[in-house]
Amino acid sequence: MGMRDTELYHHLLGLAAPWAVSDVELAVSDGRVDVWVVHPARTRFVCPECERELAVYDHSEERAWRHLDSCAFLTYLHARPPRVECPEHGVLQVRLPWAEPHARFTVLFERLAIDVLSECDVQGAARLLRLSWDEAWHLMDRAVARGLAAKPLSAPAHVGVDEKSAGRGQDYITVVSDLDRGTVEHIADERRQASLDSYFTRFTVEQLAGIEAVAMDMWDPYINSVRAYLADPDKKIVFDRYHIMKYLTGAVDTVRKQENRTLAATGDKRLAGSKYLWLYSEENLPERHHDRFALLRGADLKTGRAWAIKESLRHFWTYRRRGWAAKHWKRWYFWATHSRLTAVIAAARTLKRHEAGLLSYFAHRITNAGAEGLNSRIQAIRVAARGYRNREHFKTAIYFHCGGLQLYPQTHGLPG
Ligand SMILES: [Zn+2]
Repeated sequence: MGMRDTELYHHLLGLAAPWAVSDVELAVSDGRVDVWVVHPARTRFVCPECERELAVYDHSEERAWRHLDSCAFLTYLHARPPRVECPEHGVLQVRLPWAEPHARFTVLFERLAIDVLSECDVQGAARLLRLSWDEAWHLMDRAVARGLAAKPLSAPAHVGVDEKSAGRGQDYITVVSDLDRGTVEHIADERRQASLDSYFTRFTVEQLAGIEAVAMDMWDPYINSVRAYLADPDKKIVFDRYHIMKYLTGAVDTVRKQENRTLAATGDKRLAGSKYLWLYSEENLPERHHDRFALLRGADLKTGRAWAIKESLRHFWTYRRRGWAAKHWKRWYFWATHSRLTAVIAAARTLKRHEAGLLSYFAHRITNAGAEGLNSRIQAIRVAARGYRNREHFKTAIYFHCGGLQLYPQTHGLPG
């Protein structure tokens, strides 16, 4: 004869004294197993607050926890949690070895769910784990809350600040990252000064002194926040290469639109449908566009000049020495402001106003593009997030996948 089913489940669940399986019910047609767990009479438990050993005061109502499946059978653990009456802390439910307080799942199930959620989108994970969509989100929320609570508070040396569109239109979130670790450290609503302030306010003055540099867009609310919280802000703000190039690319596009309109009025359609050609950097232009692009560039168009000015700025970040880069910047600025291209002149003047934060790159050599892995991961989450329905879910998913957090629940006496 084999093991009795109660004994089998005792082993499968890895239960330790005083807990033991009292009953197992298999409902084949429902595809589920229900397992009841009890403790012997007169067992003493400790107060969850002070660990004082006490007699059982009473039991709460029976509860059920979803556990790892038994051979594709949904498996539920049932028990009546004991309560103790602590002279100091009053009547409290004791800690159960298989689940965290208020959890609807056992610790082992939560660990599996976290593994599956890390590999899938929420819908896929919910399907694999046979959870509802809300239950899957609930697990993810709990994991993130757990991870954030356990995370030690420390300010990274190199901080990245970026805005991300969180939905349609003007719905933004501010994402603060640790550029060295490549992790998301903080997420705040909108992209106002208060958004970034909410990150800095968490630290003491001593901790803030550990921040050596902040990479960001030329965005006044963020600049003001750094000025309000960090000493020597102008030495620490680094305007991000990625954002600056995007800004210049926007100027090229403005020139192209205007020129296209002028040319089209005379029946010249050379620039029509060329928008994306001018967005590439020279080395990234796909092979199939080479001929057309060479023709356009040789055609003495304003757009071609604007593009060449944009591409020349790219070299700024390749200099080994700040002095050479500063010379390049000066020459570039002269060229750009004498280009007679209004959009390019305006862009160059904006850069000039932010010159210190441009040149400070050579003291720190940081860029949000260095966290490009992070950017593309957040972008992937955003794409998968079309079904998230709200911004809070988007934030949870970013923390879950990019926060570098300790997401697993602690085990108390269960293997795993
Ligand atoms: Zn107590």
